[in-house]
Amino acid sequence: MAKPVLLTVDDDREVLRAIERDLRRKYGSDYRVLRAGSGPEALEIVRELKIRNNSIALFLIDQRMPGMSGVDFLAQAIELFPDAKRVLLTAYADTDAAIAAINEAGINHYLLKPWDPPEENLYPVLDELLEDWEAAFPPQFEGIRVLGNRWSPVSHNIKDFLARNHVPYQWLDIETSDSEVRSLVQLLDEEDTRNLPIVILPNGVRLRQPSLADLAEHAGLRTRATEDFYDLAIVGGGPAGLAAAVYGASEGLRTVMIEREAPGGQAGMSSRIENYLGFPSGLTGADLARRAVVQARRFGVEIISAEATEVRVDGPYRFLKLANGAELSCHALLVATGVQWRKLDAPGVERLTGAGIYYGAAMTEAMSTKDEDVYIVGGANSAGQAAMYFSRYARRVVMLVRGSSLASSMSQYLINQLKATPNIQIEYNTSVVEAHGDNHLEAISIHCAETKETNTVPANSLFIMIGAAPNTDWLANIVERDERGFIYSGPHLTRDGKRPNGWKLDREPGLLETNVPGIFVVGDVRHGSVKRVASGVGEGSVAISFVHQYLSKVV
Ligand SMILES: Cc1cc2nc3c(=O)[nH]c(=O)nc-3n(C[C@H](O)[C@H](O)[C@H](O)COP(=O)(O)OP(=O)(O)OC[C@H]3O[C@@H](n4cnc5c(N)ncnc54)[C@H](O)[C@@H]3O)c2cc1C
Repeated sequence: MAKPVLLTVDDDREVLRAIERDLRRKYGSDYRVLRAGSGPEALEIVRELKIRNNSIALFLIDQRMPGMSGVDFLAQAIELFPDAKRVLLTAYADTDAAIAAINEAGINHYLLKPWDPPEENLYPVLDELLEDWEAAFPPQFEGIRVLGNRWSPVSHNIKDFLARNHVPYQWLDIETSDSEVRSLVQLLDEEDTRNLPIVILPNGVRLRQPSLADLAEHAGLRTRATEDFYDLAIVGGGPAGLAAAVYGASEGLRTVMIEREAPGGQAGMSSRIENYLGFPSGLTGADLARRAVVQARRFGVEIISAEATEVRVDGPYRFLKLANGAELSCHALLVATGVQWRKLDAPGVERLTGAGIYYGAAMTEAMSTKDEDVYIVGGANSAGQAAMYFSRYARRVVMLVRGSSLASSMSQYLINQLKATPNIQIEYNTSVVEAHGDNHLEAISIHCAETKETNTVPANSLFIMIGAAPNTDWLANIVERDERGFIYSGPHLTRDGKRPNGWKLDREPGLLETNVPGIFVVGDVRHGSVKRVASGVGEGSVAISFVHQYLSKVV
């Protein structure tokens, strides 16, 4: 934790050095002692400390300074640090002015120069003030802070990215009435306010509307591989990719895993997975992802935050190009890129996505839905889990289900939970046909297929979970895919007893191998796979034995 600051200001350099020395000697181990030679210089320091979210415990300020008096400085400084203790240094001649200023700037004490010996004239006063300050002052948050507007899609993406990558951050909504946030907003320059959201790093660096790749770099996530070559490269860090990473690295393969958003994949977005073996009371997807990442790292897996955009095959080498321009090579490549949410095609939806409309459960938005109505589109397990999750925050959760029942699309345990939750309402035979709002979602039009009526209702939050599709176009010229983009593997590649085109080996493609030897596919992205956490984990683990078999022939 950054030490709280003691700031001393005096235009007399010798006096300034002397007081700094005395402060350091007694308080240096618990506080950071900073000094300034004038009021304006000190105000700059105060502003910078505020932006960095550091705390100031005490101002020790000379009263008589040219340009700006001690009291004038304090009047401005305490607007930013109202809890800091204030001590004014005065000469004999100033005592009347100082006493008068006690009311004006709320000065806690005035000290006469010279203060020697400090053990008698300085430390007892400061000890008492610092004790009071410590007792009353809560520790400051020291991580990344995101300052923006609740309805901004960029703000949402940044919060979601940080949360899912387990990077602690503090969200500051500029529309809030919180005085701390308001005073921080006032310190921003015009460029900042025109480019919200801004991300403020603990060292004071400000990133204006950063891209996720930029954010990853500054948040300490690894964005480039440390080696040029790996035994095994895995694209996708969902349950399938993570399981393959853990098994691969634990069995001695130099393993790299590339993930463009956050490890955990879709499972990481699940508010409660209740059917995963070994967790009888369920666990959140975020918890599962965090545990898996720790396990993978322990075995030496390198996790890169980047998007894979291209694959090239050259003899026994597979080359992978990343969106940030980097390239790496490997012997075995495992594709575990899962599926992404299908888009809802209705007027207004695309425009308001991120500003009240979200794909998936978007758990980072839960607190903002407090005491509001939340609408969820979808009738599968993911929608049911999201409804249960939001029912803890929202006044009412309305599920809009296209079919006339949930029985064929949702597990019975979830249906029972939904029915037993009083603030969840299920509307069958319904679909969203339009979204309305200028800067953010304000209303939705809902069509009922049974009554043929369309009603427009006020809504600030709409979460869409209407199935998912693979995103494999970047692999189109490399691996064989079905008409929906799922990748074929093993027996699916052998048609009428014939091996896939271009297959030159004297064996069939392995169970989880694609039509390119040494490129494997696991999890939801695989044609014919069972779309579940456990099956993804199973496939990821099993694939490693095929990788070993493959490597034993090429290496
Ligand atoms: C909300 C929700 C709740 C669910 N609840 C359950 C449940 O309770 N029980 C259950 O068994 N299943 C559940 N599922 C299904 C389960 O989560 C999935 O079956 C499982 O996550 C699939 O794992 P995967 O590793 O194959 O793919 P995914 O989890 O989809 O992970 C794929 C990863 O690849 C990354 N990626 C994609 N393309 C690239 C690229 N080009 N470069 C780099 N990275 C890329 C993605 O960012 C993603 O992180 C749920 C799904 C959702 C969405």
